[in-house]
Amino acid sequence: MKFVIDPRLAHLGEADLAVLAERYFAGDRAGDLVQEFRLQCSPNQLYRLVPPRLLADHRCEACGAPLIQMRRVGVALSHGMDAIRCSACHHRVKGACRCDACQAKKRQQAHAEVTREHKAREAYCKGQWSYGEVQCNPEDLSVDNAVALLALVRCGGWVSDTVIGRIDASGIPFAPEGLIGGHLVAALISSGLIAPALDSPIDAFETTRTPMQAFMDRVHWRILAVSPMLLVQRLEELCQFGEWPAAWYNGLPELQLALAVAECREFADLCLTERGLPAAGHLAAEALFKNLLTDFSVSQCFRIIWSGAMASIDFIARTNSSRRHGTNYFIGACQRWADRARAEGRTIKSGFRNGRRPRSQLSYVLYDVFLGVGEMGFSEPLRASP
Ligand SMILES: [Zn+2]
Ligand SMILES: [Zn+2]
Repeated sequence: MKFVIDPRLAHLGEADLAVLAERYFAGDRAGDLVQEFRLQCSPNQLYRLVPPRLLADHRCEACGAPLIQMRRVGVALSHGMDAIRCSACHHRVKGACRCDACQAKKRQQAHAEVTREHKAREAYCKGQWSYGEVQCNPEDLSVDNAVALLALVRCGGWVSDTVIGRIDASGIPFAPEGLIGGHLVAALISSGLIAPALDSPIDAFETTRTPMQAFMDRVHWRILAVSPMLLVQRLEELCQFGEWPAAWYNGLPELQLALAVAECREFADLCLTERGLPAAGHLAAEALFKNLLTDFSVSQCFRIIWSGAMASIDFIARTNSSRRHGTNYFIGACQRWADRARAEGRTIKSGFRNGRRPRSQLSYVLYDVFLGVGEMGFSEPLRASP
């Protein structure tokens, strides 16, 4: 590196210049040096004039050339400058360096990190799931698997001819909140029909945990059928024109009930938590909604649930009870409401979906695509369904 001697140092010989630099870097007072060497500058400008000091014993890690000290450490700090840098390339010893060597190193490290993470994810996935292709016709699928597969495809969309995208990116939720979505996806996995794609997005995996964890709503899904797009197309055609396999009719009532209970639970949790009440216990809620759904549609259940939540708030205000007690009251209030309607042969009005918990993809696929009845699945009792 070439250092241009400042004209204000021109009166100094080489030896004096060396002494000046040595004493400057040794920490002598700038005022004393300016005076002694008869320099035409103020003491606080001295740092600009002094030639850099060669640190012959210290080599640049980027190119191997000797390092030079440009400024006294205190001066460098107060001016946000480098005290030490390479005499040949632009490498900085401290702080963020953007020299070519450092940038190339950073790129290399980033690439190595991505490769390492990718390999770790791949090893984890292959250890967890099977990726063998399966020969499968739509007729071979259970109705649960058929509905779930189509809902998954509609939510995630094709990202290649064997892989569908993440379901959390869909504007329509895959399933009502709760366990039903996870159960249906788990059934697809255990049937060997899908597995998380090896090149899923990075944030689909929690890599800081041991063992690592995959988020089922963020992974991409590899469909393991021999011709995935053809399978899905034939499945859609079977729904539209074909004759249903007998097994689908047998499995249908259970799937409809599971979806209806899940929708009721999701709506009940919303009504309760919106009013500051804790969500209802799993067993009590499940028993209540299964009982209600034997006679009433999901939309009528929504009406009962909404009224039950209102009644619980009244109950708390009237009796000064705890919120937990209020949720217990909710279960009883809904049951009594339904029992009275049955006893008196009264018709319960329909309730509505809440915009914060929109209709799920499972409901669209089951009632629009498979059964072709649309929201009748919501507004008609299950026993009246096709
Ligand atoms: Zn260098
Ligand atoms: Zn550098």
